[in-house]
Amino acid sequence: MATRLDGKTTSRTIRDEIKAEVQTIVHQGGKIPHLAAVLVGEDGASETYVNGKVRDCNEVGFKSTLRRFDATISEEDLLKEVQALNDDPDIDGLIVQLPLPDHISVEKVTEQIRPEKDVDGFHPVNVGRMAKNLPAYISATPFGILELLKRYNVETSGKHCVVIGRSDIVGSPVSILMARKGNPGNATVTLCHSRTADLAAEVRRADIIIAALGKPEFVTADMVKEGAVVIDVGITRIPDETKKSGFRLVGDVKFEEVEQKASFITPVPGGVGPMTRASLLYNTLLAAQRKIYS
Ligand code: NAP
Repeated sequence: MATRLDGKTTSRTIRDEIKAEVQTIVHQGGKIPHLAAVLVGEDGASETYVNGKVRDCNEVGFKSTLRRFDATISEEDLLKEVQALNDDPDIDGLIVQLPLPDHISVEKVTEQIRPEKDVDGFHPVNVGRMAKNLPAYISATPFGILELLKRYNVETSGKHCVVIGRSDIVGSPVSILMARKGNPGNATVTLCHSRTADLAAEVRRADIIIAALGKPEFVTADMVKEGAVVIDVGITRIPDETKKSGFRLVGDVKFEEVEQKASFITPVPGGVGPMTRASLLYNTLLAAQRKIYS
């Protein structure tokens, strides 16, 4: 039976560490970290995510600013608003909640954010620096996965890691990070996607599986080697009338059966999700302390 990699408890520990750090900053008369979030339109999920991020900031003692714009805002005006936040010296970290309305280019907006304030780590400068193993903001989900592996002392060096999914925000960066020289890292990585010829065979060879494809319960026990480490990034809402919310969250891994074979496994919910939230706070602290770009 696998040991659960408890993201909920670990993220609470990280938040407590950040909170203590903020108290020290306050005592020393230093600058309180300040995160600005931009929300465009009224997408329900985005609203929930942004409100969560603002709540997280308040909880650890950060300052936060939430700028809301109507879905009809032009690309040009949004770029100007981002620039104004770039230019505000009190703001350390700046994020724009995705997705954006179709008439606005995500690339343009992402590139408008100054790399020094890009605590989401999506700017090409930060992605490039991360790939070159230079100091960089690492995007929240990959960062959270690495931190969880580190805090549970999961050995990654020399292991074969199979990542399923090659998105810009999860699969691609985590594949780079797992292959980098470092700890966690030093793994031999296979990056799989929808065109991979025999995905099950690839996954079966893995010592570490990182499932980030967004297909509920896709990874079944027959695809998992005995003793593998299983990181489930997927989150899909499945209608469930027995829940007050009307849905339940399901990962990309068939948890009950895979748990029997794995050595370590992340639950959904309570695994990678909370780690992602804590990572944004950590990056904002780094930004305020000018730790990445000094
Ligand atoms: P995405 O942008 O939709 O990318 C999915 C990736 O999976 C793509 O590379 C796609 O391949 C691949 N894929 C899809 N179906 C596949 C299949 N049958 N076999 C092999 N590969 C397949 O997704 P994402 O944004 O990375 O998110 C993935 C999941 O993680 C979602 O459930 C999302 O909600 C969740 N997520 C969770 C967190 C968290 O904090 N826990 C954070 C972010 C995302 P192609 O490139 O070939 O299309």
